[in-house]
Amino acid sequence: MARTALVTGGSRGIGAAISKALKEAGYTVAATYAGNEEKAKAFTDETGIRTYRWDVADYEACKAGIARVEAECGPVEVLVNNAGITRDAPFHRMTPDHWNAVIGTNLTGLFNMTHNVWGGMRERKFGRVISISSINGQKGQFGQANYSAAKAGDIGFSKALAQEGARAGITVNVIAPGYINTEMVQAVPEKVMNEVILPAIPVGRVGEPEEIARCVVFLASEESGFITGATLTANGGQYLA
Ligand code: NDP
Repeated sequence: MARTALVTGGSRGIGAAISKALKEAGYTVAATYAGNEEKAKAFTDETGIRTYRWDVADYEACKAGIARVEAECGPVEVLVNNAGITRDAPFHRMTPDHWNAVIGTNLTGLFNMTHNVWGGMRERKFGRVISISSINGQKGQFGQANYSAAKAGDIGFSKALAQEGARAGITVNVIAPGYINTEMVQAVPEKVMNEVILPAIPVGRVGEPEEIARCVVFLASEESGFITGATLTANGGQYLA
């Protein structure tokens, strides 16, 4: 029987590419989103992948949402923690709201989601938890104290859980993308892209969402069972961690 994969923020951007690649690889896929109904509906119409709306920063919403996904799609054996937001500001202008929103979605979201699938994965002696961090969690980024802290936290969280899950057949890994060709990156002015960003990337281009999706499919597979606690960087050589 097909394994079930749950992708947070799986209705657009990198998450949509991950959801599609997992479906193509034979998984039953469920994708979550926060509030963009239009994008979620268009995604379901295009792919046939079910979408579910809840806030990953809300523990009780995660618990209820995962119960619904498991009732409709089967036990979650692959969890992809992809949902993420930015609220950039130089630190002297960063507000507690900027901080809490980013930590809530990008770090606490990992606790809320993973905690609610962990028991089932332990019982079934199989699980794959894959979280999308960022190059900026590895190297830090001006104006992103909140985001860099959360994304670095994702790596520490995964290294700790990798040790706890190992004997139960659960692997816990991270992918740290660099610049990826999403709406956010497409909005960067051409001059900044050509004169600042591209010269900093040794391969001379930004990455494609499908390149991150292929990393996820690999880490989700049974064949990757010896890889746990790892951070797979996919950044065109921009930062060598
Ligand atoms: P997008 O902004 O394109 O999509 C984000 C997705 O996450 C959407 O589906 C959104 O739902 C969902 N989401 C946001 N907040 C929440 C929440 N609180 N609860 C549930 N779902 C939520 O993101 P990207 O594709 O650009 O990024 C995906 C991941 O990759 C993020 O973790 C990001 O930090 C990371 N990343 C991205 C890079 C890039 O270059 N784009 C580089 C490095 C890392 P809705 O559609 O309803 O808003």
